[in-house]
Amino acid sequence: MDVPLVKQDIQQEARRLFEKQRQFASRMAQTTASERIERLNRLYNYLLSHLEEAQEATYRDFRKPAAETMLGEIYVLTSEIKYTSKHLRRWMKPQKVPTPLGAIGTSSYIQYEAKGNALIISPWNYPINLALKPLISAIAAGCVAIIKPSELTPHSSAFVRKVVEAVFPPEEVAVMEGGMDVSQALLALPFNHIFFTGSPQVGKIVMKAAAEHLASVTLELGGKSPTIVDETADIAATAQKIAWGKFLNNGQTCIAPDYVMVHSGVKSRFIDEFRKAVASMYNQDGKPTEDSDSYARIVNDRHFQRLKSYLDDAINKGASVELGGKTIAADNFIEPTLITGVNDSMMLMQEEIFGPLLPVMEYHDLREAVNYINAHEKPLALYVHSRSDRNADYVLSSTSAGNALVNELLFQFGNPEIPFGGVNNSGIGKSNGYFGFQEFSNAKGVMKRKFGTTRFLYPPYTDKIKKLLNFMVRYL
Ligand code: NAD
Repeated sequence: MDVPLVKQDIQQEARRLFEKQRQFASRMAQTTASERIERLNRLYNYLLSHLEEAQEATYRDFRKPAAETMLGEIYVLTSEIKYTSKHLRRWMKPQKVPTPLGAIGTSSYIQYEAKGNALIISPWNYPINLALKPLISAIAAGCVAIIKPSELTPHSSAFVRKVVEAVFPPEEVAVMEGGMDVSQALLALPFNHIFFTGSPQVGKIVMKAAAEHLASVTLELGGKSPTIVDETADIAATAQKIAWGKFLNNGQTCIAPDYVMVHSGVKSRFIDEFRKAVASMYNQDGKPTEDSDSYARIVNDRHFQRLKSYLDDAINKGASVELGGKTIAADNFIEPTLITGVNDSMMLMQEEIFGPLLPVMEYHDLREAVNYINAHEKPLALYVHSRSDRNADYVLSSTSAGNALVNELLFQFGNPEIPFGGVNNSGIGKSNGYFGFQEFSNAKGVMKRKFGTTRFLYPPYTDKIKKLLNFMVRYL
């Protein structure tokens, strides 16, 4: 079968870069903590001196407000670099572990060694952050890496490439821009580790490709993240937090609250407070939200149409729009929209929303909310808003989620002390700080014999050995 030339070129370029890096991988693996920190500092300094360029790229891609680029793209990177640089020496040190009685005469330790060639495939919604944050962990671990940014945000993708080309030689880190064909050409190569951020559907394709080479994977995926608001919650503060967490980046955040389950006793107050919160964030000057500088856009027409179809489908099936609902196709604009009267027959409640539509369901007993969550895929994030420790602990202990936050939203991503990631459908593996370092490292268990022997266990299996084994299984 004839392979089109373009595709062949992509495959050749992918292989060329991969081989170049493979030859360098073992040298990179042997870099010291200081050498890795020096590389991270170069990245830090470059980012700090190109802030406006980063803001312009994300603005041109989907009108991301500059403040959201500073918080959601740059700050998460600079803080991760600082945290990693501060702790890397300790992470890289061999960790001595105790010697079990049966192994007396040996000493043991755990040594984190670089996995080698890493592939990072990133999505479009935080296009700088999600391409470079895994890279920080890869560099910390001593890996070489190829990054494939998303084709849906071309200005940010070009910026990522520019950063990488300015900071790293291609044998250490390289960027291959493009779409599915570039992704697939890269996925055909025998990388040691693949760090993928994107949808569960593509995550399955990535994992199948990784299986061909038995590459390890980190899959940072998505799904529907539920948010519970119980009758004890501070309703005004909660409504404000949810409005912020939902409409940041125009709802195109993997850990955005996908839908709200509110106690029936506080539902109408919640909706009132939510209206006020939205107005205070986007209409303070009395102008409509489409004129606000603080509100991004849907990334492209395909995603705009997808969201519009969820909204139309919900309305056709009997849902009510309590706030918003206005759409402007030519501008990929959808108003902050709150919808009630939803049920599982609606697309809105079947698919990850990933846009500024917020369905609100009501419950009467917390068990109903928990049962609903447990009847669906395990979420990437679970949020509980409550002033009752008992209620919050009940929800946390009777559900499963990648991360769980009580009375807060989104900040799990920027907290390097806790692992960030999903579980099953929402992801495999973790990132952030030490957890990200571990993903790109092989935890090599090392044993060194100092004295003694295990020769007394070798064949022939005499009665003495059998007696000894009997003793060992009982007492050692
Ligand atoms: P996506 O899965 O469509 O694309 C992600 C990357 O995969 C892109 O670089 C794309 O070019 C590539 N890709 C697409 N189809 C492919 C295929 N068939 N074979 C190989 N590669 C392919 O995701 P998206 O639309 O860019 O991002 C949105 C999704 O990402 C949402 O589900 C969101 O929840 C999730 N997400 C997760 C996190 C997280 O940290 N867990 C962060 C951001 C986004």
